[in-house]
Amino acid sequence: MRSTIGRLPYRVWHPWTSMPTILGHPSLQVAFERAEGSYLYTADGHRMLDGCAGMWNVCLGHARKDMIDAVAEALGALTYSCNIEFPSRRANEFAHELLQTVAPRMSRAMFHCTGTAAVESAILLVRQYFKMIGKPDRVGVVSVTGAYHGCSMLTAAVSGIPNDARWFMPLPEGIAHIGMPSDEASALRSLVEFHDLVDRLGPERIACFVFEPIMGVAGIIEPPRFWLEQILERCRAEGIRVIADEVTTGVGRVGNWLACDDPRVDIIALGKGLSGGYVPLAATLYSDELFTPFGTGVTPEDFKSGSTMDGYPAACAAGLAVISAIQRERLLERAARLGAMLKSRLTALCDQGLCGPIRGRGLMLGVPLIQQGPLGPQPFEPARMRWVIARLLQHGLVLHAVEDSTLAILPPLTVVEAEINEIAEILGGVLSDLRRRTEARSAREVLV
Ligand code: PMP
Repeated sequence: MRSTIGRLPYRVWHPWTSMPTILGHPSLQVAFERAEGSYLYTADGHRMLDGCAGMWNVCLGHARKDMIDAVAEALGALTYSCNIEFPSRRANEFAHELLQTVAPRMSRAMFHCTGTAAVESAILLVRQYFKMIGKPDRVGVVSVTGAYHGCSMLTAAVSGIPNDARWFMPLPEGIAHIGMPSDEASALRSLVEFHDLVDRLGPERIACFVFEPIMGVAGIIEPPRFWLEQILERCRAEGIRVIADEVTTGVGRVGNWLACDDPRVDIIALGKGLSGGYVPLAATLYSDELFTPFGTGVTPEDFKSGSTMDGYPAACAAGLAVISAIQRERLLERAARLGAMLKSRLTALCDQGLCGPIRGRGLMLGVPLIQQGPLGPQPFEPARMRWVIARLLQHGLVLHAVEDSTLAILPPLTVVEAEINEIAEILGGVLSDLRRRTEARSAREVLV
């Protein structure tokens, strides 16, 4: 199988991607040349609306002058300062701004380069914290089936996607998963599992509970409020620390700085939109209680983890510029308002019978695609899903598919009304086309 981009053979190996699919489907082989605002452009000038803001991170749109200037200015002023020992002015300014604006009840910010590293650090830090305060048995990590928390060995094990993680076995021990709370009935079952687990293991052996306020990779699923309420209550009562993985949901995505702004959360992990996708940047925010033994305790220890590029000045400058743009341009209000508008436009598409109820909130929406099977509505099979993604690309809309044949729609927070309409129109057109084909021909012929 041979494939080229321009005159060059295709040599990129994409992680998380079926290479035979990429190499064998020219319609999925899109090499972007440049981008501006909400649009991506191919070398031959084809324009496509970025309905997934890069990988859900380009929250201010592409090629913004203020972002590029902020990063360039920081690179010119102080290309690098080792954040492991010496803070830069920008890193400290960014920590202040982040804590004050996004999570005023938190006390300290630590910087990382990826969402994976943020979640991993949070878990490592909680384990170290418990050892330092004389509770070395508190090592257990409880997470949710279907959750995605990253791709390191630890976060792959903490993620609830065994089909992916099995390839890297043996995985770290001491991690348990409760059921995915995708609706009221499954949330009730999940709660029973959670309480059983805590009772069985003993709370004094559990360090932390990790969760996504809205599960992204699992299919844009927001657990029912009662589920989270009970878990947060039990964690607080038993001294189990709570890590909210807001890597996707944080920094304005759902119309607020955070999707779960709750005092019972001890650590918040942020990433993706934190730098608007201009440079790698992630962060963890910690309550004062977690910081105390490290910062002012009787026998303080340094946290035994951290990487070379964590909190480098240009990344912190990008973070500062993102917060300032979100405030100046009132993007939280915009995400809530345009998200509601997009949700109602997408809901109207469900009449065609090819998608289920639209999920998510703000500008983090999921369109579950369904087909009628002998046992009732079923998720789209992979070939059908690929067909939809390719057709959307041909019509100028880039979207990602996540679990359970769901289209994830997370455009930049700067998206305008006309672009919201464009998303709904392109998607509506592709679904109508599919429906016409399904009605007109035998299932085998539909996708040709
Ligand atoms: N947590 C969540 C909720 C995510 O959605 C992701 C990325 N999809 C991560 C962690 C990992 O972030 P990264 O890809 O930057 O390592």
